Amino acid sequence: MPKEEVDRLVETIVEAKGATRHCSICFNLSAQDPCEFCSNPNRDQTTIMVVETSRDVIAIERSGDYKGLYHVLEGALSPMEGIGADDIRVKELIARLGMVWYKRLFSLLTQT
Ligand SMILES: [Zn+2]
Repeated sequence: MPKEEVDRLVETIVEAKGATRHCSICFNLSAQDPCEFCSNPNRDQTTIMVVETSRDVIAIERSGDYKGLYHVLEGALSPMEGIGADDIRVKELIARLGMVWYKRLFSLLTQT
């Protein structure tokens, strides 16, 4: 079974158990929505690391060096397998980036 199918299967089982859900902001698997990263004001809100799966988030968190936010694409672009930008969370990422830049610009413009 390909790795992606295993990942999907594991996610489906975990979700079916009701233990976790996808964060509505970053799509990481979490027991809460927004997840513990998105809802943590101590994380750097202006840095977003783009990863393929929630498993990558766990691996990066284990290193302990990263203090920003995440965006889980839930897959990778693969033209050979017919997986395009619409099949993964690219639209959501672009919308999120727009929001981050809007907030930064707004705070810059309102600084006196
Ligand atoms: Zn999140």
